[in-house]
Order: sequence, then C-alpha cells, then structure tokens
Amino acid sequence: MDVLREFDPWRDPLCTCPPKLSLNPYTGCDHACVYCYITSYIPRAFECRPKTDLISRLRRDIEKVREGTLVSMSNSSDPYPHIERNLGLTRECLKLLSQKDLRVQIITKSDLVVRDLDLLSKMRSVVSFTLTTLDPLVSKRLEPGAPPPERRLKALRKLTEAGLPVTVRLDPVILGLNDDEIERIVRSVAGVGAKHVTSSTFKPRPDSWHRIKLKFPKVARELEPLYFEFGTKHRSSFYLPSHLREELMKRVRDACIANGLTFSSCREGLKKISTGDSCDGTHLIE
Ligand code: SF4
Repeated sequence: MDVLREFDPWRDPLCTCPPKLSLNPYTGCDHACVYCYITSYIPRAFECRPKTDLISRLRRDIEKVREGTLVSMSNSSDPYPHIERNLGLTRECLKLLSQKDLRVQIITKSDLVVRDLDLLSKMRSVVSFTLTTLDPLVSKRLEPGAPPPERRLKALRKLTEAGLPVTVRLDPVILGLNDDEIERIVRSVAGVGAKHVTSSTFKPRPDSWHRIKLKFPKVARELEPLYFEFGTKHRSSFYLPSHLREELMKRVRDACIANGLTFSSCREGLKKISTGDSCDGTHLIE
C-alpha cells in the first residue's frame, strides 16, 4: 500500500497499540511542538506540505483494505494543520474512508476538527485531543503553532455533546514543566466529557532535547542528570528512571480513577497500571 501504512513505530516492543493503519495527509506539521520527535526523521519537519496526489493514492489503497479496518490520522503530523482550513485534504480523506465503513481515529491539537463533525458522527470514529497544559502562555511556548488549551477544551465539549467518543492524550508529561498540572488537566477534560486518557512521559531525542534546552533552560538543567546520568536509553530516545516514570503515570491514573475516566500509558512498559481496554482509546469506537 502507498499512503495507508501499517502503524508500526519502529517495531518498538513497548508499543501496545492495536493493529491499525496510519494515514498522514500532510508531510511535516506546523504546530511545531518543542518536544516533537518527527524532526528526527522528517526533513523540514515544521514546514507543513500536502502529500502529492493524496486523494487518488488513497482511493487506490482503500480498494485493498477490509471494511472495519482501523485507520489512525495522524501519527507523524496533525491532520488539522493551518493549511487544512483552505485545502480540506483531511476532510476529503474522511469522505473516502466513510464510503468503505472504515473505523477512524483522529489525533489532533486543533479545534478545526469540529468542522468535520458531520462526517465523523456518521462514521465509526474516536477523536483524541492532545492537551499538555491549561496555561495559555506555557502552551504558546511549548506548542507555538497549535490552538490554545481553552479552544481545545471547547472543541472537545462540542464533540462530546454531539455524542462522539473523545479521549485525551496528556502527552508528554515533562517533569518540572507540566507535571504539576496533571490533576487539573484530568479534572478539566472529564468535565467536558472525555472518556479516556492516554499519557506518556517526555522521551527526548537529541533534536527535541536541544529545543527544550533553548526554550526552557531552567527545566532542562534540572532534567539533564535524570535523563542522561540516571535514566536509560531506549532506541533513539532517552527515558527518565523507571521509578519516576511510574510515579508520574500513577498520578495520571489516580486522577483518571477519581474522575471516572479510564487510563493507559504509551510506550512506558507500564501496562500493569492501565485501566483502559486499549492504550490508544480506540476501544471506544463502536
Ligand atoms: S502536533 Fe504532533 S506532529 Fe505536530 S508538531 Fe506537535 S507533536 Fe509534532
């Protein structure tokens, strides 16, 4: 297949996602998150450009997949970058996917997803909003191209009020930067109807670490020994010591339990503390 690819994050044994296909309408992403890892493998990663001939390529791929197959949009970009407002490529993809009755997972930071509520509500779908902070100033520094948290929460509420299952990615949790917000974030997303939270600690690669050092030097100074002296390296990413990761993820889990949400962690090797039926929230698709 061509644009529908097996979701397979470098055959990482820590990934516990159910089988799914990945579809990125765009190459690169203009949300330009400081912690983003796509800069380690996509050239000019923060310059978002549409995939060439995407719609005809997708039409050909769809012929080859079975009804009910799970398609995840997107994993190396946001399906709702700024140019989507005019280009409508993601919307065209959704129209095609709906004709074959494929299940769809949307992963986004953009409230533009609400535009496609008409399509999503007729499909078997779940929307996952990433929310890392409730503070608009921190968000502006951390995810400079993405809509502020308040707009994401409003969009989340609109989707849940329309009956769509919505999950949240509290991802990444960066110790010393946003971990003090864990409980507030979970309470807020529960208040607007989210059903599940997937969370993960920050796992820097050299490029994202460099950006964190530039944007948040004080936080980076505190974190440096934790990652590079006492932590571990897994593939190309650096991990905090396991007791710290488990502590952080347990705080997210406990906040979820207190607010009636299910919880899972992403690529932490902590399946034992999950309470959800899938790590990515796709179990919520009908
Ligand atoms: S929205 Fe996702 S893909 Fe886009 S820059 Fe942020 S982390 Fe990277």
